[in-house]
Amino acid sequence: MIITKPRDWARIRAGLDSVGARRLFCVGCGQCATVAGTGGEKEVAEAIVRLEGEGFSVTGYTIGEVACHLGGIALETRKHADEIAAADAVVVFSCGSGVQTVADSVEKPVFPALESVFLGNVVRHGVFEERCQMCGDCVLDLTAGICPVTTCPKGLLNGPCGGMWDGMCEVVSERECTHVRIRKRLLSQGRGDAGVIPPKDCSVKLRPGALDMRGKRRGARQAEQHDKRRSEQLGDDRPGDRKSGR
Ligand code: SF4
Ligand code: SF4
Repeated sequence: MIITKPRDWARIRAGLDSVGARRLFCVGCGQCATVAGTGGEKEVAEAIVRLEGEGFSVTGYTIGEVACHLGGIALETRKHADEIAAADAVVVFSCGSGVQTVADSVEKPVFPALESVFLGNVVRHGVFEERCQMCGDCVLDLTAGICPVTTCPKGLLNGPCGGMWDGMCEVVSERECTHVRIRKRLLSQGRGDAGVIPPKDCSVKLRPGALDMRGKRRGARQAEQHDKRRSEQLGDDRPGDRKSGR
């Protein structure tokens, strides 16, 4: 899920003041921001109380089922068209994707109430950890399901680095080195060393990302070409002198 945290209130206020907004419509998100405890019913209701306490008037609010779903938000904003028309601006309690979805669906200035911080796992209620940076060229098959790109603070594909001490990470000293964890897990599964992982194929991560699953034939061909390139890299010609790479 996308992990969000509340945006600095003064920045939200400054944005609203910049367009002279006094009447607001609020949009929350029923998925990630609800689970993160930043943009669900409770947080939006609390923000409305705060906004009204600071002299704003709130014309209405909605918690979209999924704030980043263009069709769903278009429907939701149509349902609340009168309340949105009565507002000077819309405040969105979701990740940046959701904010942009709302901005595409209304003709009012739109302001984010949250900061999007990472794609994360829920460790326990209110505790989140980043595990994947969506690099588009996954190596988890080689690393026993532990992502070196994300969980090694240096993002090293091959390690450990020279700073590892007694199995622990140089940068986050209370954490075991990612590459030690990878090695231990591979061995516990009866698998050999991962060997040297070649540099990642950054061409698969062009921005902005776009994927059309309806174009299966073209997508399948691209995937096939990518897999071929990757297996060639992982084959006998792998660069033996490379000790780290992204
Ligand atoms: S290698 Fe890491 S960052 Fe890349 S897709 Fe796999 S888990 Fe995500
Ligand atoms: S000690 Fe291990 S996890 Fe920490 S930065 Fe070095 S290689 Fe990465």
